Amino acid sequence: MKTSYPQYVKLLEERLTPKRFRHSLNVMERAVELAKIHGADPQKAELAGLIHDIEKNSPPKILLQSLQKSGILLSDADWVSPQLWHAPCGYLYARDRLGIADGDVLNAIRYHTTGRAGMSLLEKVVYLADLTSADRDFSDVKEVRRLADRDLDAALFYSLQFIIGDLVRQGKPLQPDSLACYNEIALARAKAEEQRIMKGGSCYGK
Ligand code: FE
Ligand code: FE
Repeated sequence: MKTSYPQYVKLLEERLTPKRFRHSLNVMERAVELAKIHGADPQKAELAGLIHDIEKNSPPKILLQSLQKSGILLSDADWVSPQLWHAPCGYLYARDRLGIADGDVLNAIRYHTTGRAGMSLLEKVVYLADLTSADRDFSDVKEVRRLADRDLDAALFYSLQFIIGDLVRQGKPLQPDSLACYNEIALARAKAEEQRIMKGGSCYGK
């Protein structure tokens, strides 16, 4: 697989399980694809996609130490969800050890598991590349892939509906950034719908 960042491929191979390493290459490829479709910077997408899971296989104890040292505040929901820690820790690793200074690339890594309100185009591309990479096989993946090719917000919304709904059904806490991301899109959709109704005037004055 060709990449502009061969120096990171070796590092990832050393740090990750073979499965996670393959996933990282797949996410890189998918991120470039989505960036090209939606007009994001393909080089930044390639870099963020490649290293987004660089801390995925590090022990939770080490990740927690890294977070505590950094001053990043964890929400209550984060404390009980160690599987989320690799994203902010990946951001710290990229910034502090790899010397990556691009804020958009760093945020794309930091928010790749939760999303957040006000995501940039690159953040959405990486979030959805992670969900729709070639190795993903959850039941709705084809639909999310189809949506992501066409409309990033629609794909993001569809994914969050699924993820949040699933957490609610299991009685698990909701992560505030994911909730804020969901609400932002849900509100935009509700406003667009209201405007559509107002313009049509079908419900009013008849
Ligand atoms: Fe991840
Ligand atoms: Fe991932």
